[in-house]
Amino acid sequence: MSGGPAKTKRVVIIGMGDTGVLVASRLSRDFQVTGISTKPNLVSGQELGKRLADLNWWQRFYNTPLHRFKALSSVEIRHAKATSVDLDNQTVTVLDQSKLETRIPYDFLIIASGTSNGFWRDDSLRSEADIDAQLQSDARAISEARSIAIVGGGPCGVSSALNIQRAYPDKTVSLFISADLPLPGYHASARQYYHQELINVGVRLFTGHRAITPTPAPRAGTIHFESGQSAIADTIIWSTGDRKPHTDFLPNGLLDDEGFVKTRSTLEVEGRDNVFAIGDVASTDPARSSARNWAYGVLVHNLKRRAAGRAANKRYSPPANRWGSIVGPQDTGLTLHQDSGKTTRLSRWLVDKVLLPTVVQRVIYRGVKRLER
Ligand SMILES: Cc1cc2nc3c(=O)[nH]c(=O)nc-3n(C[C@H](O)[C@H](O)[C@H](O)COP(=O)(O)OP(=O)(O)OC[C@H]3O[C@@H](n4cnc5c(N)ncnc54)[C@H](O)[C@@H]3O)c2cc1C
Repeated sequence: MSGGPAKTKRVVIIGMGDTGVLVASRLSRDFQVTGISTKPNLVSGQELGKRLADLNWWQRFYNTPLHRFKALSSVEIRHAKATSVDLDNQTVTVLDQSKLETRIPYDFLIIASGTSNGFWRDDSLRSEADIDAQLQSDARAISEARSIAIVGGGPCGVSSALNIQRAYPDKTVSLFISADLPLPGYHASARQYYHQELINVGVRLFTGHRAITPTPAPRAGTIHFESGQSAIADTIIWSTGDRKPHTDFLPNGLLDDEGFVKTRSTLEVEGRDNVFAIGDVASTDPARSSARNWAYGVLVHNLKRRAAGRAANKRYSPPANRWGSIVGPQDTGLTLHQDSGKTTRLSRWLVDKVLLPTVVQRVIYRGVKRLER
């Protein structure tokens, strides 16, 4: 399909994060695309450790105003929050920052609204200035603390502990995990590798420590553990994987028991052949892994088939283990962990000069305009 009759069809995407932007950039040539976004920027959920320990570097690649993506030039961006979806009348209601409510019609709807996950990802309506203020204040909370405690041994916890300790060797960085090894869901060799790497860097690693998570979780002070022990830190990072899907605006019938969107392997939402879901919000598999693994190609292909009156015929198949970068680029390079347990190391030069600007920005995101000076 190229530019022809289907350009009359309207695709609405709720959420312009990592996956919403990718999908929009692949559909904008053939459809009228509207992206609804609580944030005027793509503020990526990736590389939390780098964001906290090296904000200037992180901002260059992971906080990008949506208008800088070349492939979104024909996409209508609505800086607003989706508050409800009317499936029968095919409309999405949105509320913008001036509290104005608008209804947007769609032929196809894509739900890419992600999940809340600790302090670094949420669904609040923010301006560019709000985003910048929060990024600066989170980085300051690390640079000004003498002791930092991180709770949770998933990729965000490991990345935070390792990057902060490397950037600030004089600070006391403690990582509390409930299992014997960090990184559940990753290949055993990746788990062993980071267990050792954390210790080598000087992180105080406490295994078998299951924390009691209060609501709201304190950003400083005391952490209590189920064992009755406790720990105190100037800054606490809670990274316990308590994800809350951003789906309050959807009818209950589309959601599973945990509130994620019931999504088939074709990335169609169960029972609706004009509604798709992708990314952390989509219950494609237990790890909800469709933000990675090229799932956006499956969605784009199947949506185009549906628009042409045909059945979806590509399926998303998740890998057995999580893979990819865990701690981001270090001075020694970027270590990529494969599904099979093998690792590949790219030099830092290759990452900063080729992988991120060329492969990610130019090829995957199809071009990012330079900053206006
Ligand atoms: C190219 C790429 C590489 C990756 N590499 C890795 C890796 O190496 N290791 C790894 O662990 N993970 C990796 N990931 C995955 C990544 O960590 C997360 O899984 C990903 O950020 C989730 O994307 P998302 O679009 O589902 O959600 P998000 O990026 O969180 O986007 C959701 C957006 O929707 C907005 N929103 C929420 N509610 C509403 C609403 N009601 N109305 C409007 N907007 C709303 C949110 O504010 C947010 O902007 C990668 C992802 C990509 C795309």
